[in-house]
Amino acid sequence: MVGAAEANQRFSRLLSEAEHGHDVIVTRRGQPIARLSAMHNPESPAAPIGRDPETSIPDYGARVDLIDTCKKMNAIGLNQGTSGNASIRVDGGLLITPSGLDYDKVSPSDMVKIDYEGKVLRGGKAPSSEWHFHCRVMEAKPKAGALLHTHSINATTLACLGRGIPPFHYMIAVAGGRDIRCAPYATFGTEKLADAVLEALDGRLACLMANHGMIVLGRDLEDAFKRAVEIETLAAQYLKALAIGTPQLLTIGEMEVVLEKFKTYSAWADPRR
Ligand SMILES: [Zn+2]
Repeated sequence: MVGAAEANQRFSRLLSEAEHGHDVIVTRRGQPIARLSAMHNPESPAAPIGRDPETSIPDYGARVDLIDTCKKMNAIGLNQGTSGNASIRVDGGLLITPSGLDYDKVSPSDMVKIDYEGKVLRGGKAPSSEWHFHCRVMEAKPKAGALLHTHSINATTLACLGRGIPPFHYMIAVAGGRDIRCAPYATFGTEKLADAVLEALDGRLACLMANHGMIVLGRDLEDAFKRAVEIETLAAQYLKALAIGTPQLLTIGEMEVVLEKFKTYSAWADPRR
């Protein structure tokens, strides 16, 4: 017969063994009746309970969305290699893609958080060299949640001719007005380019940049991505039409009717402000 004191002592010893990382089999009259499993091994302590370090970065979801959107732009040919860039508005500034990195190899922590002056708030990589226009445009268009920049083939071909897209098709209204302007040429990554872009985007959600590419705004990344696809399609159609003749343009009056019908489509942006 085991006394209470002795039983307590024995149980304490078993608990102590379990605490030291051993699995303990509790026996009664030589028969195993219970098992105390060690919760941790002191020789190789498990990671503390908590969030994975990568997923605990602020704005983790926005960072993942940014990478996914850039991959999507490459996958459908809207962009090639590392030439395009993207930003998304977050609390206190923007998250922007890093400079010159392959989107298939970046991780969420590589996305760079900057303020509207371009100052890096978080991140070990350099922000995209085009941070100037990202900051200026996103500051000037507070309702926009995302900005995409691509060197897509058709829009860029028109931009290399210094041509915007006139209202040859009613879908031009997706850019918020009756045409899509082409900003005059300025060196990439300069304030001068940001100035030109801001002017071309007056009352618009998209523009071309001479000898460079296109810029598209959206309520969020998905909205900007869809608009970029539409504009690249319009650019392709316009180029085809130009190749065999002179496209018929819609009148200002006809475009006013379309813009009225499109109001719900881009009401979030109030683009004609
Ligand atoms: Zn560019």
